Amino acid sequence: MRNTVAQRLRVEVEGTVQGVGFRPFVYRLARELELTGWVQNIRSGVLIEVEGDSPAIERFLQRLRTDAPPAAALDSISTRVIPVLDDVGFSINQSVKSGQLALVIPPDLATCADCQRELADPHDRRFRYPFLTCTQCGPRYSLLMAIPYERSNTTMAGFELCSACRTEYEAESNRRFHAEPNACPICGPGSCLWDEQGREVASGEDALRQAEEMLRAGLIVGVKGLGGFQLWVDSKLGEAVQRLRDRKRRPEKPLAVMFPSIEAVRNYCLVSSEEEALLCSPQAPIVLARKRRDAVLADAVAPGNPYLGVMLPTTPLHHLLMASLGRPMVATSGNRSEEPIVTDEREALVRLKGIADALLVHDRPIARPVDDSVVLVVPGKVQSVDGEQKEKPRAEVMILRRARGYAPQAIRWNDDATDGTAQGPILAVGGHLKNTVALLTGNRVVLSQHLGDLSTLEADRAFRQAVEDLQQLLHVTPVAIACDRHPDYRSTVFARGLSQALSVPLVPVQHHHAHVASCMAEHKLDGEVLGIAWDGAGYGEDGQVWGGEFLIASYRQFTRLASLKPFRLLGGEAAMKEPSRSAAAVLWELMGDEMLGHPLPSWKVTNDQRAQLANLLRSGVASPWTTSMGRLFDAVAFLTGLCHKTSFEGQAAMAVQFAAEQEGEAGGLEGYPIDLVPSHSPDRKWMIDWGPVISAVLADLRRGCSPERIALRFHASLAKVTVRVAQAVGLPRVVLTGGCFQNRLLLSLVRRQLEEAGFTVYSHALVPPNDGGLSLGQAVVAANLLNDVP
Ligand SMILES: [Zn+2]
Ligand SMILES: [Zn+2]
Ligand SMILES: [Zn+2]
Repeated sequence: MRNTVAQRLRVEVEGTVQGVGFRPFVYRLARELELTGWVQNIRSGVLIEVEGDSPAIERFLQRLRTDAPPAAALDSISTRVIPVLDDVGFSINQSVKSGQLALVIPPDLATCADCQRELADPHDRRFRYPFLTCTQCGPRYSLLMAIPYERSNTTMAGFELCSACRTEYEAESNRRFHAEPNACPICGPGSCLWDEQGREVASGEDALRQAEEMLRAGLIVGVKGLGGFQLWVDSKLGEAVQRLRDRKRRPEKPLAVMFPSIEAVRNYCLVSSEEEALLCSPQAPIVLARKRRDAVLADAVAPGNPYLGVMLPTTPLHHLLMASLGRPMVATSGNRSEEPIVTDEREALVRLKGIADALLVHDRPIARPVDDSVVLVVPGKVQSVDGEQKEKPRAEVMILRRARGYAPQAIRWNDDATDGTAQGPILAVGGHLKNTVALLTGNRVVLSQHLGDLSTLEADRAFRQAVEDLQQLLHVTPVAIACDRHPDYRSTVFARGLSQALSVPLVPVQHHHAHVASCMAEHKLDGEVLGIAWDGAGYGEDGQVWGGEFLIASYRQFTRLASLKPFRLLGGEAAMKEPSRSAAAVLWELMGDEMLGHPLPSWKVTNDQRAQLANLLRSGVASPWTTSMGRLFDAVAFLTGLCHKTSFEGQAAMAVQFAAEQEGEAGGLEGYPIDLVPSHSPDRKWMIDWGPVISAVLADLRRGCSPERIALRFHASLAKVTVRVAQAVGLPRVVLTGGCFQNRLLLSLVRRQLEEAGFTVYSHALVPPNDGGLSLGQAVVAANLLNDVP
């Protein structure tokens, strides 16, 4: 008998609410509040019916938001009053039947606190078991073979649950109720250690102990983790780290380091509270944190880099290894440079041959490569504090590599689009570097994990598999395919072939338009914005290499309002690896033949080389015009002596950034004169004349000004010019995108100046500003273009 009037509510929750322990949470909450009804997974999220006193239902709705499991992300909650049923008890209904497939693919989650406790408890039946999981943590996407997310559709299907595990799995009140990868030492996967030839040398506890011994001795061990192999080596042993670099053919690019605990991280890095929260989150990404000056790590870990990519253990196996080793370990992707990570132990014997001295493997198959994600905390929008004049920037997360923990979470780009019918499905195949692919259905876009640069066979294979994968998992066939405008990208060639095979339209999207659209989609912006897209290279409408672009853009179209003044991309691809080429090209534009005799302090190019470069510049052979901001950074890096040769993308620009950051915050520092000049070509209104900047850099160098100060003034100039363009355009919203905005100093300077001038500024938070975000932009542009067709 109830004292007050009962009410029944149907509650629909959208977002990341499957595979994250949401149903058991709802079950416990409803029980606690003495509500009756049920909860079940549906196509777009979770459906709940609750019945009881109005105040209790009110509390239920409140706590649905505030108390949800850490990995859950609630996009929307909608409610409807329905007739009272007077039912008894609360239950978890089985997942939807076929024809009503869930669109939600849960991401992989780091080991939760409860599981960590069990792992360390000698009285627990899962004490030191490297594969324990629960409804709130463990592998999801990396072992999923089909949806709905059920054990039979995962790579755990081959492991039959023992009776103890089955009881947990079937008990609604248990924290392992329907924990699909549930396992224990009796019934679950096990680990063993292989030598280079794939011979088993130890298993179980022995395997871990021997792997640890090898690592202590400075050897390199390939560790099969959650979404693929990592290569481990002791971060304090310089020679060992260098050996890993030599074998992996990765001379300088920073290596990520795993720490045993957050306390240990603090001993090596200056971590903010936001950075600590990210490290300890269920996503547990690699966070780029500032190194402490007194941090003792081998120089070879991140040479010349003031930041360190740090992470905490993410799986029980990692926790066990790190607890015993008790020191920071290099844990880098198990691959050769820029290939996708290795997922299978047999494949590891071939692809990691000559790199790893041994392999610590296990028999839980990995369905697809899911690399560690990389994130950065950046100063966010300036907010007023308590209405006072004092303003404090709020920190925001920027994702540089979107994989484990984040992929393939859907991005809702448009609240109006109806689910699945009005738009799409549209497949977008991304660009060439840092490739991701995307599938748009209705108002959401599912983005694949980071796949790597498509220049290797392995990456090409992973790319094709990801395309297959997304279509298969979401049970859709695209009605259109979007790609980059570059005619020769592997992704474009593939898209062209597929569109012919399926007889569906191909929608090529200009590179920088896709960058801007991806950022607009993240923030659900409609209408026109000023898009500032700065990166290394993207194929322009005129066939030139664009990269310092100001676009007036909507989803449907864009006009190129301004760009950097063009200079030669000297020798094409070669210019990306040798900053001297960009330096020569800008000097040539500035002074022509005089460049040959120009005295420069850092001009470490022989006279012969100079003459060769001048010949190339004169003839223009194999040297297309470019407006690339990345290459302008290269030129400054070379002229100031900060970087002479690069071994990875963005290295020279990073050197300029680090030098500028060393000089300190640019409060009030004057930038160099930089001009907005009318363009004489019909395709754009203005050009940014960087000539005065380079002249001023040369003058500062002659004056003996430090490279750090020059680097900072260079950044300040760029920020200044964005305000001039924005004011000339007059659109209130400005979008910052492209690989150059991974530079947190540049991002914060540009943002601050634009905001001070009254503009609303948007930057990336859900997808990378680099080419990893292109597929999202391509998908939404295509959806809008196709919608225009009657
Ligand atoms: Zn757990
Ligand atoms: Zn078991
Ligand atoms: Zn780009």
